[in-house]
Amino acid sequence: MANEVRVRFAPSPTGYVHIGSLRTALFNFLFARHYGGKNILRIEDTDQTRKVEGAVENLIGSLERLGITFDEGPVAGGDFGPYFQSERLDIYKKYCSELLQKGYAYYAFETSEELEEMRRLQQLEGKQTMYDRRGRDLSEDEVKEKLASGAPSVIRLKVPLGEEVRFNDLVKGTIKIDSDIVDDQILLKSDGFPTYHLANVIDDHLMGITHIIRGEEWITSVPKHILLYRAFGWEVPAMAHVPLILNRDKTKLSKRQGDVAVEDYLRKGYLREALVNFIALLGWNPGEGDEREFFAMDDLIREFSIERVQTSGAVFNPDKLNWMNNSYIKDYDLDKLTELSLPYFSGTGIDTSDRERVRMILNTIRVYLNKLDEIPDHVKIFSTEEVQLEKDELRQILEAESSRKAIGALAGKLEDLDKLTADLYKSAVAEVQAETGVKGKALFKPLRIALTGSENGPELPAIAEILGKEKSVRFLKRWL
Ligand code: GLU
Repeated sequence: MANEVRVRFAPSPTGYVHIGSLRTALFNFLFARHYGGKNILRIEDTDQTRKVEGAVENLIGSLERLGITFDEGPVAGGDFGPYFQSERLDIYKKYCSELLQKGYAYYAFETSEELEEMRRLQQLEGKQTMYDRRGRDLSEDEVKEKLASGAPSVIRLKVPLGEEVRFNDLVKGTIKIDSDIVDDQILLKSDGFPTYHLANVIDDHLMGITHIIRGEEWITSVPKHILLYRAFGWEVPAMAHVPLILNRDKTKLSKRQGDVAVEDYLRKGYLREALVNFIALLGWNPGEGDEREFFAMDDLIREFSIERVQTSGAVFNPDKLNWMNNSYIKDYDLDKLTELSLPYFSGTGIDTSDRERVRMILNTIRVYLNKLDEIPDHVKIFSTEEVQLEKDELRQILEAESSRKAIGALAGKLEDLDKLTADLYKSAVAEVQAETGVKGKALFKPLRIALTGSENGPELPAIAEILGKEKSVRFLKRWL
């Protein structure tokens, strides 16, 4: 690419990061890093009614946790600031006056009641509901008079009529639209705040954005934006609209069918690497017939390209996320996993100051974890003071003659040890087998039930080591 790539993530702060926003932020980040360009964060906070305290800090924090960083923005600074739109109001006013002067925009004075009535009549007549452009008919004097009288006004875009507005989207291809159905969009509201469209176009231009990568839901705004670029005489950045994220039933990803806030996923103990990997595959793939599923951030940066962004909706499958997270947990560096897991041990009765023990526990149970918040369920066997049978039927197994023989013999052998380790446990069981003649399932099953209360679970020698000699012996003897 000839010029330096400059992309931006331009969220309106809502207090949490939506999965869809994360995907947009990630794709922009990957694109910027792939081309050695700049990733810019711009906060689109001109809708003062939607302001949420702490939202921006939270947003930046969550993205950073996931490894998505910015070269310019509210925290990083940069030469194109301020990066909060609410601090750029004068800029929007200035450029909007320019449009007025050049005849690309005009004042309109309709009250919300009048606009409501307009819409109602259009609906009655089965027409497209849009501003009927009546403000264009006011004479200069009428406008002056109304302004002087202090009547509330907005500034609207004067859409050139009877034209085809065309643009080439890097994902969706060429899109054409008849300008007659493009609304005379409000650019500046009566309170002096810009609308999304005005501020977005001005900022993308002034911030030198070369590529706009964002969700498909914004594609309907593009014709208005193209007309604005044209009116200003500015070059239109390249655009890539990435497909919607869908629920499994193909409806738009919604709160009702599961979590949509990235923070919720992090809180539940999805690892950042797994989340990033999973999100990257929502709408992007490495190539036709390329079955690879696992990508670290560096792989994604190397391989990401807009050409491989798909056009159809990307289905968010929570089972796949769980599978992927479990795969990451299984392979994760154990020390790091231990650090990350500590908060999830709270309330389990397991003393986390004994890191070595926590580490051992995690290593034993991690194959079963889809996410870290499942830890408490899996560590009950290590903290309990008395084994609870998972189901009553298991008692019969424990009461069998051969079971009692094996349990008794093992208890005796463990009692003689100084310290119980997984290896010593294995040898003790081998001796029990040789001495009692009980073997196979008839041996392993009752021992597992006696020690854990359940028929299946992690490796028994590891469990025994974690329980330690005293507890293991006590648990075994209880059934005799
Ligand atoms: N502020 C818009 C949002 O909340 C930005 C859309 C765009 O990227 O143009 O997503």
